[in-house]
Amino acid sequence: MCGIIGYTGKGRAREILIEGLRRLEYRGYDSAGVSVCDGNVIRTVKSQGRISVLDEKIGDELPGTSGIGHTRWATHGAPTDTNAHPHASADGKFAIVHNGIIENYEALREELTRHGMKFQSETDSEVVVNLLDYYYDGDFKNTVMKATSRLEGSYALGIVCSDFPGTLFAVRNMSPLIIGIGAGENYFASDVTAFISHTKNIIHLDDGMFAKVTPDGVTIYNSIGAKVRPTYEKVTWDAEAAEKGGYEHFMLKEIMEQPRALEATINPRLKEGKFSPEGLESLDISKIDRIVITACGSAYHAGVVGRYVIESLCRIPTTAELASELRYASPILNERTLVIAISQSGETADTLAAMREAKKLGAPVLAIVNVVGSSVASLADYVLYTWAGPEIAVATTKGYTTQVAMLDIFAVWAAGKLGTVTPEREAELTSAIVSLPACVQRAIYLASNVEEIAKHSHKHSSLFFIGRNIDYACCLEASLKLKEVSYIHSEAYAAGELKHGTIALISQNQLVIAIACYEALREKTMSNIQQVKARGANVIAVAHETDRSLIAEADDVIFVPETEPLFMAVPQIVPMQLLAYYVARENGCDIDKPKNLAKSVTVE
Ligand code: GLU
Repeated sequence: MCGIIGYTGKGRAREILIEGLRRLEYRGYDSAGVSVCDGNVIRTVKSQGRISVLDEKIGDELPGTSGIGHTRWATHGAPTDTNAHPHASADGKFAIVHNGIIENYEALREELTRHGMKFQSETDSEVVVNLLDYYYDGDFKNTVMKATSRLEGSYALGIVCSDFPGTLFAVRNMSPLIIGIGAGENYFASDVTAFISHTKNIIHLDDGMFAKVTPDGVTIYNSIGAKVRPTYEKVTWDAEAAEKGGYEHFMLKEIMEQPRALEATINPRLKEGKFSPEGLESLDISKIDRIVITACGSAYHAGVVGRYVIESLCRIPTTAELASELRYASPILNERTLVIAISQSGETADTLAAMREAKKLGAPVLAIVNVVGSSVASLADYVLYTWAGPEIAVATTKGYTTQVAMLDIFAVWAAGKLGTVTPEREAELTSAIVSLPACVQRAIYLASNVEEIAKHSHKHSSLFFIGRNIDYACCLEASLKLKEVSYIHSEAYAAGELKHGTIALISQNQLVIAIACYEALREKTMSNIQQVKARGANVIAVAHETDRSLIAEADDVIFVPETEPLFMAVPQIVPMQLLAYYVARENGCDIDKPKNLAKSVTVE
């Protein structure tokens, strides 16, 4: 999720690793550490908090010309010194850094413990170093292959072994890792930014590949250990563009990262074809007779989607409440009401206050949160992490979609436990959620006309989003996204509500964006589209890619891929995020840092 750097050459590894980690700082992290090889000794220093704290802790005392470094964004275990990376084996022979999530870490930990191996940290990552120790037969490459063949999940790994000073191994599976080629020195990193001041010559590692990196050369292998001829590339970006992965803004980068963020959220929750998320083991859903979802901003909008999905699948009365309102509304909550609090940062003041109120009244609280060890996570009785990785743009994108996906997973899990869906339906819903990353990838592909639409619609000073049911929930988020980044006034309206007053505002050339994907109510939304068209509105429709009927009705159509109707909120928000982005870009707005907004709202 966060940053890795590896270096081997003739320079002082300590300095080069710290410099690389500083360049990765922009991504956000909670702790950092380095392991430096000095002859046959590996020394590891790590620390919670900023890199400057780590730098001070290291002092001048870390000689050596090769090593690995890490900035951690915790997924398993709180951000503490012990949980920080690198992790070293008990005898100090190996040290590793890891980005991603090892999905089968519990089974591996149990197995290795049976073999007498000890664990120091609460992380999933530590199984990697113990596997290396367990399989070590004097052959570094073989040991790396054996150990990594046992891993399931996403991982970019940097590995050092005290028997092979100057040799590093880098392994990649579903988490970025790039090799940097220098003269008499080589690098690897999760992001070229880390070494771009030293070299722009790179090799991209593909999933399943690993590399042996020494000062004089790099050898690339596939997963069965056969040599692969590398493709050399030259990065043309400067350091600033490299931070954004070549995209113009973090917001666009994060929109494009959504398939991967969703994979990280969804896949680890799947055990033997069923969702069984860590964090819910002790929640007895049969004792719950009402659910109140509470959050602010986009997280609240995710809650509105969740409300429809949970009610539909679990048949538990569910409402979504703004946290800033709930806390003062003298809410009726008790031990049979499950309160679900959602927050990306985990520090949202209003959400925390609503949670405290809920706990005071005896309600169990489940948090859906992106930051491990955050205040929301600490206060909750049950926690589901979204594992979207750090989000830098102030306007959330992958934070929101992973929250919705987590609510979808929760709903399917709960419906399975309650028996409100048949096992066949549960299997169907599960596979629809598992396909969401691919579905979002396709939504990105289908949204190719959105940039063009933004070019001819960015001058409107006010617009409406309309839709019904989940489409309406999606309108709320689409409208907020547009407001946040482009400063254009917009309103989200339940399409059927328009005629109760607001339709008075529809006149010639008023822009209306109609989301018409929710199959069961599609015809109803169609008639709302006709009503606004009849009053002169310009309509941009969002429709299933198989639904050609809107081409004739609307002025523009944005197509989205079809999936289980209850889960459409995830793919269909993607073109709306892109529309907000491109409109803001047309209007010259400061997209990543919109005026008056903060990423984490820690005040009331
Ligand atoms: N899952 C690992 C941990 O929690 C790695 C997190 C990361 O990618 O920074 O330590």
